[in-house]
Amino acid sequence: MASQEIEQLSAALARLPGLGPRSARRAVLWLVKNRERALPALLEALDAVSETLVECQTCGNVDTRDPCGICADPKRDAKSLCVVEDVADVWALDRARLFQGRYHVLGGRLSALDGVGPEDLNIASLLVRVEEGAVDEVVLAMNATLEGQTTAHYLAERLEPFSLRITQLAHGLPVGGELDYLDEGTLAQALRARRPLS
Ligand SMILES: [Zn+2]
Repeated sequence: MASQEIEQLSAALARLPGLGPRSARRAVLWLVKNRERALPALLEALDAVSETLVECQTCGNVDTRDPCGICADPKRDAKSLCVVEDVADVWALDRARLFQGRYHVLGGRLSALDGVGPEDLNIASLLVRVEEGAVDEVVLAMNATLEGQTTAHYLAERLEPFSLRITQLAHGLPVGGELDYLDEGTLAQALRARRPLS
């Protein structure tokens, strides 16, 4: 029977996605064994992140600075905007540098069931960005779920008055699939084969 402190650490880690109690216990065991080397680095990294984490006021990404690293990168194509549901999608698409433009995080998807309407998402700020910036293309990278596609169609309608190319991720996305869970090959293929929204 481990002490209360060790149990608490296990319980906290077990709440992380992809872990669960068994993996959490293994992680704690590893940390205990390697405490001199691993614990200070982990504590320092957690502390640094918790002190500096902010939401980017431009795109909604979460980073340690505002504007975020992507918005602040001058090498990124500001004319191309990829709209995603969640921060996790930015990270998934950006892991392999698949997309050279910038992002806009909606903060969810339209859902009649959950009572999420357009005003609950970062849509107004998207329209402002499109209106103020010289945006040529908007890639609607919603999840291949019913709600994701409803959101994409709604956005396409709102974006129609602007003269820009509106594209959508292509096939290769499994139905019901969430971007965050896809491998980079599937994501790359879907992005390369993006097509105009009909
Ligand atoms: Zn940003």
